[in-house]
Amino acid sequence: MRPQTENSHSAGCFVGFKALFRRKSQATRDPSTVSSGLSQSQQHEKFSVPSRYCDLDVPCGWGLSAEDQTSYDTLLPPYRDNEEMIAYKQLGETDCAAQRTVNNVLDRLDPELNQLSLDIHDHPEIAFQEKYARDTLTAFMHRHGFDITSGYLGLETAWKAEFSYGNGGKVIGINSEMDALKRIGHACGHNLIAASGCGIAIALKAVLETHHIPGKIILLGTPAEEGGGGKIILLQRGAYHGMDFCLMSHPGPGPLHSVDLGSTTAVQTFEVEYLGKGAHAGAAPWDGVNALDAAFLAYSNLSVLRQQMKPTHRSHGIVEGRDWVSNVIPDNARIRWQVRAPTYEELNALAQRVRNCFQAAALATGCTVKIEEERPYHDLRNNPVLATTFSEIIREQYGHTVSTHGSAASTDFGNVSHYLPALHPLYAIPTEPNGGNHTPAFTKASATKSAHAANMIITRGLALTALRIIQDDSLFEEMKASRLICISSDS
Ligand SMILES: [Zn+2]
Ligand SMILES: [Zn+2]
Repeated sequence: MRPQTENSHSAGCFVGFKALFRRKSQATRDPSTVSSGLSQSQQHEKFSVPSRYCDLDVPCGWGLSAEDQTSYDTLLPPYRDNEEMIAYKQLGETDCAAQRTVNNVLDRLDPELNQLSLDIHDHPEIAFQEKYARDTLTAFMHRHGFDITSGYLGLETAWKAEFSYGNGGKVIGINSEMDALKRIGHACGHNLIAASGCGIAIALKAVLETHHIPGKIILLGTPAEEGGGGKIILLQRGAYHGMDFCLMSHPGPGPLHSVDLGSTTAVQTFEVEYLGKGAHAGAAPWDGVNALDAAFLAYSNLSVLRQQMKPTHRSHGIVEGRDWVSNVIPDNARIRWQVRAPTYEELNALAQRVRNCFQAAALATGCTVKIEEERPYHDLRNNPVLATTFSEIIREQYGHTVSTHGSAASTDFGNVSHYLPALHPLYAIPTEPNGGNHTPAFTKASATKSAHAANMIITRGLALTALRIIQDDSLFEEMKASRLICISSDS
């Protein structure tokens, strides 16, 4: 694991639901869609086509803006045909009873989960320092009958809460994020994510026990989403091995009762250090090698590169120095830089051009340069069967609007979503205008009653999605078969 720097909390997450791409109108509710002769899996595949593959002539819509709300209906995933819906509504008594169990348990848990969320919110901890969160969340899960492994797989603040019922059955994975941002606390709402993961796991435990359904629930406490890639480390160490699917959610700004099931960007983070030689800036500047100049040249190179980047790419970062004074040629400078692109492949191409910018600045100034790269975050690939199932539940039972705009932000859950069927809905909580993720306003928003209420609806939606998947073997198989891409957990 690379040591975390002061600014290492800025890699991931959701700086608002800014859509990178706008799908050109796809009338997915058009009756011709459902009667097109496509198999169910083909229809899921159709939903799965990320918006980035569509025309990019209007690249920068906003995922959950109020103005866009009326356009959601043209962006929705396809409804199932009537026969399927009738079949769903005629589920057996056990199925309906299991749904009631989920809802009853979450009704009872609501105040406890709110308290848990506020407790985490009141104790913000940055990447790999989430000890209070780890201890609080594992104590909570232990009280609710889960077996706990703390400091999971060699990561001090990672943890696992596990429950098994009977022999065999499906293995449900869930993630609880915990980390906050330096100085501005839980400005990304991970306190809500942490509580939601616990709620989903406890509700599903009750279902397995009450209705005698064999299966296993694995809730992972995942550190360092904002920088450091805790889930990527856990993935490489086998934490996701054996899970059949994995669920989590993430809050952002937008109109209440709205959800986005689009993708996120892949991101590469660079830590660059220039080393030069100090000298008297007035008496003998020619004796010096100016590391600050190298950083400025690199910044200029990156700024020039930006005009050749696609509008769907992002490039941003900061420059820092140690013991700089104006009358001494600076002998050191550090750059922390991040680039994002819609896919990992595009990111790789962009990253090479960025490396060249850093190298060129070293050559021009005579400085030495050291370039370190953090583990890249992959783009998010929501499993189409999980996404469609969740979408139906959240719309039909809770009246939410669903879009697939995606976000220009990034998450280490992207890597998880390339490895196994996964779902990561973005949902809206109320916040002030321009008070989206990574602002103090969002820190405030993440502790409100209405944020908790929105979180609980998504928690119910995800628990009911898992329930439907474990109860319906054909849907389960379809989910497994509909993975868009498989990568090794080593990548
Ligand atoms: Zn976040
Ligand atoms: Zn964030």
